Amino acid sequence: MNLWTKLKQHKPSPLVELEVDAWQEKELKVYVKRDDLLSPLPHDPFCGNKWRKLKYNLLYAQAQGIDTLLSFGGAYSNHIAALASAGRQFGFKTIGIIRGEEVENHTLRQARKDGMLLSFIDRATYRRKKEANFLADLQATYPNAYIIPEGGTNALALEGCKELAEEIQTQVAATHICSACGTGGTLAGMIQGLGQGVKALGISVLKGDFMRAEVETHLEQFTKKTYNNWEVLEGYHHGGYAKKTQALLDFIDAFYGQHAIQLEPIYTAKLFYAIDQLIKEDYFPRGSKIVMLHSGGLQGIIPEV
Ligand SMILES: *Cc1c(COP(=O)(O)O)cnc(C)c1O
Repeated sequence: MNLWTKLKQHKPSPLVELEVDAWQEKELKVYVKRDDLLSPLPHDPFCGNKWRKLKYNLLYAQAQGIDTLLSFGGAYSNHIAALASAGRQFGFKTIGIIRGEEVENHTLRQARKDGMLLSFIDRATYRRKKEANFLADLQATYPNAYIIPEGGTNALALEGCKELAEEIQTQVAATHICSACGTGGTLAGMIQGLGQGVKALGISVLKGDFMRAEVETHLEQFTKKTYNNWEVLEGYHHGGYAKKTQALLDFIDAFYGQHAIQLEPIYTAKLFYAIDQLIKEDYFPRGSKIVMLHSGGLQGIIPEV
């Protein structure tokens, strides 16, 4: 099977049940959707929710005869890493517009190795990344490029995440599907793919109470429909984006010890920690079948050498 066919007709990523006595006593079933295992290549940053979000963007670019993909991100961005890797594998040139002064780290070194051209822009300019005139200038500078927003969140990304929710529901009769929220695009996409009575639960990894509104904006902008089958909880950011607490780091170790599944502190650990807390607080009714999305992101914890 060629690469494009594999992208179109990929096998579902594994869904694994976690065995925890305290959860079984509450008559809960808890599963992990292993989207971190989506790529057959080990340590491939083109995995997780970034795979879901890029899938239909790649197919669109191929259909349109586009040869260059351009997007935005911070210096550790999983999206930038995924885009660079996908570009190498699927034969696109890639351009990464990176926030802040030029730095060197594992993510950017790997992106360059994958063939990505990196352009660093100051933070004030970066903040204009959604403005029409900024995007028009960028398009004029890179006339062949297909511009994908920060975090990959656009209509085609939501389509891939909708498919993810549908895929999960073929594997288990879930009552709750839970995801970490950065831009909220993954949650917004999954919300569209839920069957009757199934809820989406988002855990914001950023400080502030804007994530619910962000998800609502994506839904309005890309689907023009309203949904009431979802919720975002804001109290689990551990100090803010990319901030960590000792409790979070201890949780990562304990979780790995019990389940042999690696989490990273920016997204997945905050989600899994939150669900663990919510179960303790009896947030989920007895009989619930809870799916936690392992959205990948492990490229971000490869140690610097
Ligand atoms: C980007 C990312 C998220 C957040 O996804 P959004 O669609 O931006 O909300 C969650 N988990 C991981 C591992 C990510 O890389």
